[in-house]
Amino acid sequence: MNKKRLVVIGGGAAGFFCAVNAARLNPGLGVTILERGNKLLAKVKVSGGGRCNVTHACFSIAEMIKKYPRGGSFLKKAFHHFFTTDTITWFSERGVELKTEADGRMFPVSNSSQTIIDCLLREANRYGVEILMNAEVKEIKLNDPGDEGVDTKFVVTLGNSKAIFADLICIASGGYPKLIQYDWVKKQGHGIEAPVPSLFTFNMPGNDITELMGISVEKAAVKIAGSKLSEEGPLLITHWGMSGPAILKLSAWGANELATGNTQHPGGYHFTIMVNWLPDLNEHTLRERMQQLRFDIAAQKMINRNPFGLPNRLWEYLLRQTGINELLRWADLPAATQNKLIKNLCAQEFKVQGKTMFKEEFVTAGGVQLPDIDHNTMQSRLVPGLFFAGEVINVDGVTGGFNFQNAWTTGWIAAKGIGEVL
Ligand SMILES: Cc1cc2nc3c(=O)[nH]c(=O)nc-3n(C[C@H](O)[C@H](O)[C@H](O)COP(=O)(O)OP(=O)(O)OC[C@H]3O[C@@H](n4cnc5c(N)ncnc54)[C@H](O)[C@@H]3O)c2cc1C
Repeated sequence: MNKKRLVVIGGGAAGFFCAVNAARLNPGLGVTILERGNKLLAKVKVSGGGRCNVTHACFSIAEMIKKYPRGGSFLKKAFHHFFTTDTITWFSERGVELKTEADGRMFPVSNSSQTIIDCLLREANRYGVEILMNAEVKEIKLNDPGDEGVDTKFVVTLGNSKAIFADLICIASGGYPKLIQYDWVKKQGHGIEAPVPSLFTFNMPGNDITELMGISVEKAAVKIAGSKLSEEGPLLITHWGMSGPAILKLSAWGANELATGNTQHPGGYHFTIMVNWLPDLNEHTLRERMQQLRFDIAAQKMINRNPFGLPNRLWEYLLRQTGINELLRWADLPAATQNKLIKNLCAQEFKVQGKTMFKEEFVTAGGVQLPDIDHNTMQSRLVPGLFFAGEVINVDGVTGGFNFQNAWTTGWIAAKGIGEVL
């Protein structure tokens, strides 16, 4: 009897995880990965600055799903099948130990993404997964009776017109930047959420703040004017604007709104943000602190006495923006100027005009709509025998290893689901 054949489309993290697990769990199954490029696991290689941030040391599903601007409730159920703890164990059982950094990100102890690639390639080899490169899928069709290869359910057409026959398919082709690129996936009737970029930094061309490039603040709160979007975390001033976790998280949660706009701002990445440089204080508590400072350090020049632990250059900049000169002492701070300083410390406004993709990690929000996929198996609800895994699904996380965890979880569930329909 001929072996049943699973064709996995995409040689990235999700495709490999599905392929190697499906081959291992189902010894009777032949597995082929089709990769359009001439490199395998290309994003794994460059991820996490070449170290691969494999997952995040978060062991509560309720906490974990808060890191996914899209797809959190879908993953809530999926994580019950395969979670961060399973990722750690899976790699450990194959000789790859992970370590946790202070911020929770997990990397291989080797500090090299090649360790992850080698492990996945070894597994593919061990279980006889066939890999075809330069094999771009252009179309998937249900096989018609009478067609060549009729005993298989699907026929997959490649860019060179070659046909590949498959009993089962897993689409793990990652995110595409343009809606039209999803056409071959859409043909099967699946809804596609239009793609928009996520994880980008904010451009502020011509703004004086960029003169402070390289300065970072451990904790700032950033709010987008005219929206409910706000995030807290480290903020980095760059030569083009602002970056750092607080900004990247905002870009992820606001991916759709910032692209398309709302009644308060026009979209196209033009909006205003308010930065609270001292998020542990509010206007009221800050005013009280100021009153005390005017009394305690009355004779000291404001420029020489930065009482809030902000980087000195940022403090000097904030004083300049408020119109406070170098000679002004705390005791002589006029009430109106104090109000202005409080505003600049707690809610300084910046105009954002455009975005820059974050060089370390970017993802596409959008993809195959979640109601079309069964979270227990990753099987399409429309086309039995067709599965999905990874970023092609309308799920994306913030930075920190959450996107790879989505790839491992959905890849593994698809592998298991495939075994259930054999
Ligand atoms: C620079 C960078 C760094 C990152 N760092 C991290 C990190 O440290 N931690 C983290 O969690 N996330 C990180 N991410 C995000 C993470 O890499 C992705 O979320 C993850 O790789 C998605 O895996 P995937 O297998 O679904 O898709 P991909 O890795 O994109 O793989 C899809 C594969 O399918 C192939 N393909 C596409 N269309 C076809 C077709 N028609 N036929 C055949 N093959 C096709 C592609 O060539 C590709 O190889 C990073 C992303 C980038 C860009």
